Amino acid sequence: MSKSLQAIRGMNDILPEQTPLWRYFEGSVARLLDNYGYKQIRMPIVEFTELFKRSIGEVTDIVEKEMYTFEDRNGDSLTLRPEGTAACVRAVLEHGITGGGQVQKLWYIGPMFRHERPQKGRYRQFHQIGLEVFNLDGPDIDAELIIMTWRLWGELGIRDAVKLELNSLGTSESRGRYREALVEYLSAHHDKLDEDSQRRLKTNPLRVLDTKNADTQAVLVDAPKMADYLDDESRAHFEGLKARLDAVGIPYVLNPKLVRGLDYYSKTVFEWVTDKLGAQGTVCAGGRYDGLVEQMGGKPTPGVGFAMGIERLVLMLETLEQIPQEISRQVDVYLCAFGEEAELAGLALAERVRDELPNLRLQVNAGAGSFKSQFKKADKSGALYALILGDDEMAQQVVGFKPLRGQGEQQSIAWDALAAHLATCVVQG
Ligand code: ATP
Ligand code: MG
Repeated sequence: MSKSLQAIRGMNDILPEQTPLWRYFEGSVARLLDNYGYKQIRMPIVEFTELFKRSIGEVTDIVEKEMYTFEDRNGDSLTLRPEGTAACVRAVLEHGITGGGQVQKLWYIGPMFRHERPQKGRYRQFHQIGLEVFNLDGPDIDAELIIMTWRLWGELGIRDAVKLELNSLGTSESRGRYREALVEYLSAHHDKLDEDSQRRLKTNPLRVLDTKNADTQAVLVDAPKMADYLDDESRAHFEGLKARLDAVGIPYVLNPKLVRGLDYYSKTVFEWVTDKLGAQGTVCAGGRYDGLVEQMGGKPTPGVGFAMGIERLVLMLETLEQIPQEISRQVDVYLCAFGEEAELAGLALAERVRDELPNLRLQVNAGAGSFKSQFKKADKSGALYALILGDDEMAQQVVGFKPLRGQGEQQSIAWDALAAHLATCVVQG
């Protein structure tokens, strides 16, 4: 196949053999969020470039080098969304649904786009489930976000493989004072910093804390600590969060170097990290952004949220072999019919059964075929049972009911009794 007809590097097809696990994961999250009272919002995938510059920050990695930006036919600069928070804030402002202090607890799911170097767990089109809460400023809601994810890891069977890292960035005032102290310290060690960090020192000094460079990390050992610069309010907020996590029994480690890649965070920041995926270890990340809505032209509105990377979490389920058995089977019952008359009767019978058992996964053979070939297809479908309609069954108005996995002889079931019989042998999801 010629290169220009292939998928773009870092943008993946999710093939039919993979989608059951994706749907299981997405369904688990959706159910959890429903149960906690969160509502789904759906935003466009493309926004004006300005939106991301303004919210994420001009000197972040995302805006500096990762965005898919293009001019449309009107000459407007548009960008494929690299994350969801900016568009979510735009949407709530545009529709006035956070006005007058209205609390909104929202979530979204969908593809995000960043021009990064593709590797395991890092792609150019990837998928996130994100969540944003507006107009609640206490540590209780920060805690709820973390508690929900903790429950999710438990339900998915990956709780032992993830670790919660926490930090507080303080208010913008305390962060400002800290930034000054950090810049002063790092400037005194300028020559020992890697090139990237030297640049960041001028543009976005807090991001130096996030460096992977060993020499710079050595310099950072004695750097001023954010915790020493926290204002009383941020400190109380952080203590409130920790007390709630302790009350529920959620372990965490404090990571003073956790700053997050986006500019808009304040107070709480957190990441769920794993050592099961190699270098791309963060599976869910978020924090509080009390200044963002105002920065984007709204009234001061506290906000807090997170986003999880679906690819990384699906990879984790695979790596840890936490794949529920039920999801690999997509067919309960496979109906084989031999001859035109049987085929017509089979179609009608299948619809009757579906009327009565709307959750039954019933597949009707298509493309006719010999006894042998239809049986082979029934077996390959993964179905638990085959239903057989041949001349004999037609004459007696019955259907052959044959277990395909494990024991049990073939039996004949009257057409009228079929749905009731199936209801007793197939556990329906
Ligand atoms: P990283 O440090 O891994 O680049 P990030 O801080 O840029 O992550 P966020 O913007 O916080 O990531 O996005 C939230 C989550 O989305 C991440 O924790 C990760 O699970 C996922 N994610 C981010 N970028 C990618 C990507 N390029 N490919 C796959 N998943 C990603
Ligand atoms: Mg990144």
